[in-house]
This record gives sequence, structure tokens and C-alpha cells, in this order.
Amino acid sequence: MAKATEVPNREPVYRNGREIECWLTDMDGVLVHENQAVPGAAELLQRWVDTSKRFLVLTNNSIFTPRDLAARLRSSGLEVPEENIWTSALATAQFLKDQVESSGSGNRAYTIGEAGLTTALHEAGFILTDQNPDFVVLGETRTYSFEAITTAIRLILAGARFIATNPDATGPSKDGPLPATGAIAALITKATDREPYVVGKPNPMMFRSAMNRIDAHSETTAMIGDRMDTDVVAGMEAGLHTVLVLTGITQREEIASFPFRPNQVLNSVADLKNQI
Ligand SMILES: [Mg+2]
Repeated sequence: MAKATEVPNREPVYRNGREIECWLTDMDGVLVHENQAVPGAAELLQRWVDTSKRFLVLTNNSIFTPRDLAARLRSSGLEVPEENIWTSALATAQFLKDQVESSGSGNRAYTIGEAGLTTALHEAGFILTDQNPDFVVLGETRTYSFEAITTAIRLILAGARFIATNPDATGPSKDGPLPATGAIAALITKATDREPYVVGKPNPMMFRSAMNRIDAHSETTAMIGDRMDTDVVAGMEAGLHTVLVLTGITQREEIASFPFRPNQVLNSVADLKNQI
């Protein structure tokens, strides 16, 4: 006699009566914490794979390529295929490609950034140059050069459009905060009197481009994050089901100080894996 199939006792997550089909999740503070996997994260990722859910892991960090990030996650014990990673650099390259195609703008860009950004722009068909670029694109790097910043300032003053991958003023390190893209953007803004257009979270553009990538629709897509002021607000503005986890920045008692609420608050992704 055949063994009876085990029916898992799971109550799926619903949005307006429809089951969530696609998942977007933040990385730091949700899946990993200081390079350590959050307990339950590996099982949640495996669950998405087993149930053929479409998902993307999102990060505002524009330093790394998806392949680099997949390797870093693997060393933390998390298996995420590079196709399932969406960075602010990829979102920026997609946005600029759309601008070129829809407005007939040129495809020349001067960049300050690392492989995550330059690879994304190359793959989107951009020519990277300091000669008459259409765009100056600022991303994250650990080696800001006075010369490169000077070039960026002069090109912006000469008419190049100023774009930044993400607004974060600082990034984490084991020794303390590091100046990040938003801080260097402020320096360039001070020198040029021009504000950048910023693509990463909390701009909902980051989520819209991610959803286009996996053919997701807002009514059946959820966003998991650890920050009220970026993940939850941008998820809400993009029309998604929002899930706040308490393994990162936001503490439970801080939620009340915001004028909006996530749809769900969970201690960690370990609570979510039982719902999918
Ligand atoms: Mg986070």
C-alpha cells in the first residue's frame, strides 16, 4: 500500500484574498546579519525553490555583482542563484537603459563605482567614458578618489545628468560606519548645486524594476524587510504586501513612531517559512 502523502500544515500568506506568488526580500538584517545567516533563512529560500515561487533578494549595495553576492551568501550558508539577486546597480542600469530607449538620450556614462556598477552598465549597453557623457553615475566604492570626484563635478556642471545608485549615507563594517554613496553624493551636490536622481530603496523604482525582472504583479507580491523607513515604506508605495522582521534595524517598540504600518510583523524569517 502506498504511503499517504504528508500534507504540511501551512496557512499561506494572502493579499486581498489572493495567495502571494512572488517574494522580494531585503538581504542585510533579514537573511544575513554581519555575514551570519539568520536562523530559518536557508529553509525559507529552499521552500521558495521547492514551491516554485518567483523571488529576488534585493540590496542597495552597488559594489558587488550578483555573482559576487551569491558567493558571499554561499559562504554564510545561503544558496541564492545569481539570477535571484537584484542590486541597486542593476536597477540603475535598467532605469538608464529605459531612459535611453524612451527618450533617445545618449548611452555614455562616467561612473564612480566598482564592478557591480560598471558590469551592470556594460551589460545594459553603456559606453563608460569621461568624454562628453550623458550621465554621471555614482555608486558605492571603498576607494573614492579626489580626481574622480573632481571629474564628476566638472561633467555635471557641463550638463551630464547626475544619478546615484542608492541614498545610504553610511554603510556597516566591523570597525564602525563607513561613508557611503549618499555622503559622496552630498559632497558633489554641494559643489555643483545639483541633486542626483537616486534609484535604490526607498525609491519604489527599485521594487518595480525587480518585479519586471521576475514578471511579478503588485497584488500578488510581498516585500520582506527590516527597516520601516526604506523596505516597508517603499514596499507600501509600490503596492506590495509588506512584512517587517525584527532581526535587523527596527525594534518592535519603534514601529509605533511611524505613520504607517507593515501588513505583518514577524520575529524573523523563521516564522515565515511555516506560512509558505
Ligand atoms: Mg536591511
